[in-house]
Amino acid sequence: MADSFASVESPRMGVDDQLLRPEILWDRPAVVMFTAPNAGPMTLEGTHTFIVGTTDCYVIDPGPVNHPYGRALADWLGSNGRAVQALLLTHGHPDHAPGATFLSHLLAVPIRAPANLNRSYLPDPTETVPFSEDETFAVDGDRLRVIDTPGHSSDHVAFLMEGAGILFSGDTILGTGTSLVAPPDGDMVEYLKTLEALRRLKARLIAPGHGPIVVDPARKIEEYLLHRRRREEQIVEALSRGPRTPADLVAALYADINPSLRTLAAGSVQGQLEKLVVERRVVCLDGRYVLRE
Ligand SMILES: [Zn+2]
Repeated sequence: MADSFASVESPRMGVDDQLLRPEILWDRPAVVMFTAPNAGPMTLEGTHTFIVGTTDCYVIDPGPVNHPYGRALADWLGSNGRAVQALLLTHGHPDHAPGATFLSHLLAVPIRAPANLNRSYLPDPTETVPFSEDETFAVDGDRLRVIDTPGHSSDHVAFLMEGAGILFSGDTILGTGTSLVAPPDGDMVEYLKTLEALRRLKARLIAPGHGPIVVDPARKIEEYLLHRRRREEQIVEALSRGPRTPADLVAALYADINPSLRTLAAGSVQGQLEKLVVERRVVCLDGRYVLRE
C-alpha cells in the first residue's frame, strides 16, 4: 500500500496478459516477478509476486484474492518445473496476503508468515506457520533471510537474499513514491528505525511490493529518510504559527491533492504527528496539535 500521490496508469486488467510477461530479475538465484491485476492509487500498477529459486522455490506475496491470478501462477510454476516449498508473506495487508490461501490450497504447500500476522484480511480458514527468529531459507545456493521491518504495519517483514544482496521489501520501500505509515497500525518511529536498519544491510537491489525495481538502494533509502525529515519540518513549521488540527495540516501540506487521496494524506500526517508526540515535541489539546516550548 503506497503513500504515493504520483499519477498512476489506468489498470491493466487481463490476468493472462500479465502472466505472459513474467519479468526475470535475476538468473541465479533465479528471481521472477509477476504483477497482480490490482492496479490503483494505493497499489500503483499492482502488487508484485516474486518466485525465488530455479527448482525448489519460494513464492513471496501471492497478492489479493483473485482466483484467475492464483491459477495462472500455479500453471506457470507447474509448467516451469518449479517445486514450491512455501508461500512467504511480508505482511497481512489485503493487496499482499489473502491470495495465499487459494494458492496454498492449489499447490498443497504451507504459508509462512510473521508471527504477529494481521489475519483480518485472510479468508477463513487459513493456516499459517510463523517464521522463527532470524529464519533463513536455502535457495539456489543462497539464503533468504527473514528481517523484521515494522513501521508500515506492525507485522511487516522483508526478505534478504544474502549472497545476491536482493532485498524483497514488501511495502516498506516502494519503487515509486513513498510508503504509507498511518496509525494505529503504522508507526513512524518504528518505520524510521527500520529504514536505518535496512540502510545498514547495503542491499544491491530492492525488489519492492509495488513499482519498479530499485537499482540504487542506498540512494532510495536516503531519499526516504529525507522525505520524512522534510515532512516533519513542514509540520513543525506549520505548528510554529499556531495550533493546528490534522485536517488543517493536510490542507496546508497537500494543497493540490486529489480529493480521493485525502484520507491517505491524513493518515500520513497523523503518523508524523504521533512521532512528534512520542518525542514530546508536540502535544495534542482538544484535537489540535501544539508545539511545546
Ligand atoms: Zn501494506
